[in-house]
Amino acid sequence: MTEIKEHYRVVIIGSGPAGLTAALYTARANFAPLVIEGVQPGGQLTITTEVENYPGFPEGIMGPELMDKFREQAERFGTTYITDEVSSVDLTQRPFTIKVGKRTIKADSLVIATGATAKLLGLESEKLLMGHGVSACATCDGWFFRGKEIAVMGGGDSACEEANYLTKFASKVTLIHRRGELRASQIMRQRVEANPKVKFLWHHTIEDFVGTAETGLEAVRVRNVKTNEIYNLKVSGVFIAIGHKPNTELFKDALETDETGYLITDPGSTRTKIPGVFACGDVQDHIYRQAITAAGSGCMAAIDVEHFLGETV
Ligand code: NAP
Repeated sequence: MTEIKEHYRVVIIGSGPAGLTAALYTARANFAPLVIEGVQPGGQLTITTEVENYPGFPEGIMGPELMDKFREQAERFGTTYITDEVSSVDLTQRPFTIKVGKRTIKADSLVIATGATAKLLGLESEKLLMGHGVSACATCDGWFFRGKEIAVMGGGDSACEEANYLTKFASKVTLIHRRGELRASQIMRQRVEANPKVKFLWHHTIEDFVGTAETGLEAVRVRNVKTNEIYNLKVSGVFIAIGHKPNTELFKDALETDETGYLITDPGSTRTKIPGVFACGDVQDHIYRQAITAAGSGCMAAIDVEHFLGETV
């Protein structure tokens, strides 16, 4: 195991596609970066099953396996890992100070790649069936529900976008919303309302997911919030689209975020308002949110770091 030093040229927080691509590029540029990978390394891809849209894997690849490969590739060029959570950062002066467990680490530059977390309903059965019929990513998993009846939970732009997208595969999509009116923008509302394959289940919430990891999802137990009637809706898949939360808690006092909490970077770059601090991947992208775009912005961050360190030696 590589010894952890007290001072690094580059520290990367986060170990999804963005963080590990930033690590690969800065390692190959001889900066021997440190990746603080959290306690559940690998990011959101580790909660999906098969990834079929990451270029280079024509047969598809399991999400966790893909992330193992990213990690291995960055390690090969001299990346060091700490499997722990950052408890605080001080970005007021350089080198920056990062507290991880009992360690204090100094960094000449910092790449924030902490990602976003899909909000979930928090049910035990949801955890059990995640990847077995329950999903939080239509572009990742929609393909698995060709010709099947499925549901989407939520009433915002994400839910409408996912419901529309999923009609490319599913025979019927039931959009379950807890109120009687969509929160989504007018254009998204109109699009989903005009889609003949989308049906609406207004004033309903999900009480439980029915099925096992072996059988897959068999139904969702829904409740009519007006009448309190509870019954099973037979579906093979449910997509939870009740919003994403960018993981920006550590930086909220130091860096600018937009109104939904995403870190703001200079257009066309990964620079934040603090020189030497860069952000990439889902923590600063609420639009594309794909593994490949996160990896691309991780590469951009590494190049931005290289320029920065080159100018500040
Ligand atoms: P959102 O706008 O916050 O909508 C979340 C939806 O989920 C709301 O309808 C909310 O219901 C529902 N919800 C939240 N918690 C729930 C719970 N525990 N149980 C049941 N339902 C729950 O999130 P979003 O749709 O992900 O959008 C986030 C941001 O990204 C928005 O600014 C959106 O405009 C933007 N976005 C834009 C596009 C696009 O333009 N193409 C696509 C996706 C997202 P209530 O309505 O009752 O609160």
